[in-house]
Amino acid sequence: MEYSKLVTGMRRNLKSKIMKTYDVIIIGGGPAAIVTGMTIKRFFKGKSVLMIKEEADGLVPCGIPYIFYLLANDSEKNKMGPKPFVDLGGEVIVGKAAKVDKEEKVVSIESGDLFGYDKLVFATGSLPVVPTFIPGYDLQNVFYMKKSFPYIHNLASQINRFKNVVTVGGGFIGAEVAEQLSAAGANVTLIESEPLCFSRAFSPELSSIATEALKGTKMKVLTSALVKEIVGENGTVQQVMLADGSRIDADAVILSIGYTANSKLAKEAGIELNRYGDIHVDHYGRTTAKDVCAVGDCAQTYGFLTGRSDVIKLASTATAEARTLGHNLFGIRIKKCTAGTLGVFSTEIDGLAMAASGANDKNAREWGVDLISAKFSSPDRHPGSLPGVSNLTVKLYASPVDGSILGGEAWGGKSVGEIINVISLAIQKSVTVFELVSFQVGTHPLLTASPVNNPIIRAAEEIVYKMTS
Ligand SMILES: Cc1cc2nc3c(=O)[nH]c(=O)nc-3n(C[C@H](O)[C@H](O)[C@H](O)COP(=O)(O)OP(=O)(O)OC[C@H]3O[C@@H](n4cnc5c(N)ncnc54)[C@H](O)[C@@H]3O)c2cc1C
Repeated sequence: MEYSKLVTGMRRNLKSKIMKTYDVIIIGGGPAAIVTGMTIKRFFKGKSVLMIKEEADGLVPCGIPYIFYLLANDSEKNKMGPKPFVDLGGEVIVGKAAKVDKEEKVVSIESGDLFGYDKLVFATGSLPVVPTFIPGYDLQNVFYMKKSFPYIHNLASQINRFKNVVTVGGGFIGAEVAEQLSAAGANVTLIESEPLCFSRAFSPELSSIATEALKGTKMKVLTSALVKEIVGENGTVQQVMLADGSRIDADAVILSIGYTANSKLAKEAGIELNRYGDIHVDHYGRTTAKDVCAVGDCAQTYGFLTGRSDVIKLASTATAEARTLGHNLFGIRIKKCTAGTLGVFSTEIDGLAMAASGANDKNAREWGVDLISAKFSSPDRHPGSLPGVSNLTVKLYASPVDGSILGGEAWGGKSVGEIINVISLAIQKSVTVFELVSFQVGTHPLLTASPVNNPIIRAAEEIVYKMTS
């Protein structure tokens, strides 16, 4: 038979097996998939949208650490599903997408069912890094912070029987898990290879404050410490051996040393990846393949300040990308709505809230960005003698050339969580310290710092002083 006739026959055969063709298929079930689906169904009501998700039950990924103590090991309280998308008319199938044929526009799921699409969105997320180079990485009772409801549910159900727990990785995920397990009563040892915890997200000053906050809890914190081996007996973990030869008893080890894009399916479909293994996309989430997009942890990000390819994997940025894609999937409606991804990190350790956005004096050196900085502290209520007052510190980083805000950090009480979002907006809108001097804010004794000493305004004023005197 002629080759072209063979291909036509195969195509016809494939098309006849397609159960249904949708305007959009989204592969994934995490925050990026849900927000992409909701945005499309809200703004393009007539479009048919199918979400293919691997597991029936989903979870709030950022809530995982809090299952172990604040949520009393009840993972049901941390459930999250695509209901808001379904309520808007979206359809969901539980199954693993096993193959994508981008020429024929068909997705096959593991059960063998085939679905056609006009537009395809990869929202396949990220997976924890598994250090296969550390002997013992796969022993029984060695766990990873997988964003999987059944996996975490299983871990939560047995966590109380582990007396000695070693957590590896002092980034915000590892530190939050360690803090919660320690609060729940486990003997926790946190191991971090860098001299300070949180050093990828915070400046040295805030990393040092955060490390001290961790050390102030009941857990033991070992910094500049490298895991050489996870030692087991009869296949089950017993100890963790460090590079200096010391050993720590462990009934369980939790490794939290980073995440990589879950981009295998896209790669097998012939979609281009970048050097980090993230799916290559433009500022609208479009891959280099026609009608194929990607959002969230599986997709490439561009640093907001550097414009270059960067690795920022956060739920906040994933959902911002998902909204951008949802609006622009059928044609660009909101022009240039993502100028780049701005990492905004926030956490709370032992009652101390800490947050950072954009440049600081460490990452700016790596990025080649020149900075001027100043900080200001004041009580977060006024008068400071009110009950429940915390000291709030704001540190701003600005361009020494035009005074535009390039980064910020805040630490203190719970208001830090929203203070950093104000700073984040200032960075995104290139607000200058000169404009912040006349920043008009609302104040109230029980809710905010004093109008005399608003820490954002006073830190900005400090920078103005440095720039003009
Ligand atoms: C413990 C922890 C705490 C965190 N805390 C914060 C925080 O405080 N703030 C913050 O901004 N970020 C936080 N993050 C990061 C945040 O969780 C991620 O950035 C976010 O989950 C990314 O969402 P996503 O939808 O892109 O990917 P994911 O959440 O990874 O979801 C991907 C989904 O795709 C599904 N999937 C994958 N492959 C297939 C397939 N072939 N077929 C069908 N389905 C598939 C997966 O099952 C999964 O449901 C935290 C992460 C962890 C692990």
